[in-house]
Amino acid sequence: MAEPRILVVGGGLAGLACTMRLAELGVHVDLVSLVPVKRSHSVCAQGGINSVNALTRQQGDTEWKHFDDTVYGGDFLQHQPPVKEMADWGPRIVDLMDRLGVPFNRTTEGFRDQRRFGGTLYKRTSFAGATTGQQLLYALDEQVRRREVEGKVKKWEFWDFLAPVLDEHGRCRGAVCQDLVTMDFKAFPADAVVLATGGNGLIYGRSTMSMVCTGSAVSRAYQAGAWYGNGEFIQVHPTAIPGADKLRLMSESARGEGGRVWVPRKPQDARDPRDIPEAERYYFLEERYPKYGNLVPRDIATREIFDICTNDGLSVEKDRLCVYLDLTHIPRETLNRKLGGILEIYEKFQGVDPRAMPMKIFPAVHYSMGGLWVDYERGGDGGMVEGSPRNQQTNIPGLYAIGECDYQYHGANRLGANSLLSCIFSGLFVAPSLLAARGEAAGADEGSKLFDAEVRRQEERHRGLLARTAGDENPYQLHQELGNLMTRVATVVRRNDQLAEAYGEVCLMEERWRRCAVSDTGNWTNQNVVFTKALGDMFPVAKLIIKGALLRDECRGAHFKPQFAMPGIEATDPAEKRAEAERWCDRFEENTRKWLKSTIAACDAEGNPQISYQDVDTSLIPPRPRLYGLVGADVIEDVWKERQAARAAADGHAGQHAGTAAATVAAS
Ligand SMILES: Cc1cc2nc3c(=O)[nH]c(=O)nc-3n(C[C@H](O)[C@H](O)[C@H](O)COP(=O)(O)OP(=O)(O)OC[C@H]3O[C@@H](n4cnc5c(N)ncnc54)[C@H](O)[C@@H]3O)c2cc1C
Repeated sequence: MAEPRILVVGGGLAGLACTMRLAELGVHVDLVSLVPVKRSHSVCAQGGINSVNALTRQQGDTEWKHFDDTVYGGDFLQHQPPVKEMADWGPRIVDLMDRLGVPFNRTTEGFRDQRRFGGTLYKRTSFAGATTGQQLLYALDEQVRRREVEGKVKKWEFWDFLAPVLDEHGRCRGAVCQDLVTMDFKAFPADAVVLATGGNGLIYGRSTMSMVCTGSAVSRAYQAGAWYGNGEFIQVHPTAIPGADKLRLMSESARGEGGRVWVPRKPQDARDPRDIPEAERYYFLEERYPKYGNLVPRDIATREIFDICTNDGLSVEKDRLCVYLDLTHIPRETLNRKLGGILEIYEKFQGVDPRAMPMKIFPAVHYSMGGLWVDYERGGDGGMVEGSPRNQQTNIPGLYAIGECDYQYHGANRLGANSLLSCIFSGLFVAPSLLAARGEAAGADEGSKLFDAEVRRQEERHRGLLARTAGDENPYQLHQELGNLMTRVATVVRRNDQLAEAYGEVCLMEERWRRCAVSDTGNWTNQNVVFTKALGDMFPVAKLIIKGALLRDECRGAHFKPQFAMPGIEATDPAEKRAEAERWCDRFEENTRKWLKSTIAACDAEGNPQISYQDVDTSLIPPRPRLYGLVGADVIEDVWKERQAARAAADGHAGQHAGTAAATVAAS
């Protein structure tokens, strides 16, 4: 058998972790990336990476609690075995990155420093100042370079993944990519192809994500038959700097280090914020969520900030929606040591020193919980079977997905600092699965008809675009329109009438895209044509996001439709409160039965999503109401616990009967 060869597309944290591990296992890796791998979007990650640690263990924390926080924060929409496995690996992953040289912040005693992130009460987040992604990425890059020198890895930077190549049985045999300098096409035969191509924030025009995050590779795999899971779940981060060109993140670490969100109680109070006395400030997150305060999960913080500005009319500015994020009570030295990276960003783009003046921030599109549907094999301990060829495999045999581009770990809402963990974890964990998958495939030659045909198809598409000089549509303008539409209808608040209308508008935009003219018709580093292609591939994904959101008539995590919201308890009389809580729990149970399902989109021949639903494995932690700060949460919780106890007792009773019956059968 020829030596194994795997194609990894994407050199962010997920792709590099996977490449490093594969090379360690002796596998040859072709690593393809749109940008130099050190410029992958992961380099922008700021706040940190989660895992249980020595400090939190002293307070009673465990891997199980990290797992529980993750599924509770994600509103139970993720299969639990992969999440459990990830939480179990967390401490080892952070130790590994430490050993690889990541300069994590230290306490004066020399231990790794930790900060708190949203959706947990423990300080689980390790960080390297506020440039954690960069430090992690560079550490993995060093390891991959080492393997490159040994001849195990070949990097193809400035290459665009265009399509997977499938054989007559529908198995992925490799891919076709394009050199973005010479514009040449090349087939990459491989025993397996792994997509580690990150998120797709550019579908929303402006977001906190890098300008290469178009989601093009995932869309191409989806159009070739891979399923897309939970597309409607898009994270809108609570705190970003609004900007005309893009939206720049102010990491949750700012609140993790004690940053406070507030607005003046008097609408558009014109005073310098530093002159507004405490009593005239509304720390709305702290008042409404006393337990988690400024560190409620992101979906909740985002809705509150949105609500305080749009419904309560308390935006700091009249013409631009924003609230204050205040760090001015924290000593300068601490801020510089722990948050220097992000404070420089604010200072540079706003011209204001955030150590001295509260920042003005507003929510922004940030992350995609949805992504390519991937499989896993459940193990006896409730986690995953290591090395199973099913782990991280899409529905196309031989095609895998890891990192932000898969849908597996974060359910309906991602907890801060869990993404870096899921990226590195899925990258490391998938490697032996890829080797196992290889046993199921026999290699094909680069020269085979299969690859030639796909290369030709891509060349024709490319030539067709270059020939479109007479079109009357401008791709950059069209992109702006798409972004504005998506931001308006498919972010914080969603309404069915708007979504239905938007679906039609996106279809029309897709038609208009066919008339886009490219102004650069050259065949050397032609970014114009590359962007136009990527734009064309945004529409199928935009449609599945909208359709998934339209069909999901409930509120779950980041997906919020006011029409289906379940408000807290209004009654004050104890008996009436109790009755209301019973009704609330009835409704919650009914909704769980109906909607605790993954949305699966399959692309039909016309490029439209066909939606179906898949049950979620919640066998380890039964779904429970997500009650952060809800009015009447205590009564609802009491009712819920009583119901669970009654069920457990009934099950035990039934179990005893079953045991007796079995014994009777055995005796007879
Ligand atoms: C500003 C910001 C700060 C963040 N901070 C944190 C944090 O502190 N903690 C945390 O847990 N999460 C954080 N996140 C989320 C986290 O950074 C990302 O989810 C994660 O880095 C994604 O890594 P990845 O390896 O999946 O993809 P990426 O790092 O995005 O890499 C994608 C790779 O795919 C390549 N690629 C894409 N398309 C193609 C194509 N068509 N052909 C070839 N190659 C392609 C790219 O070149 C790149 O190499 C943050 C996100 C943002 C936006």
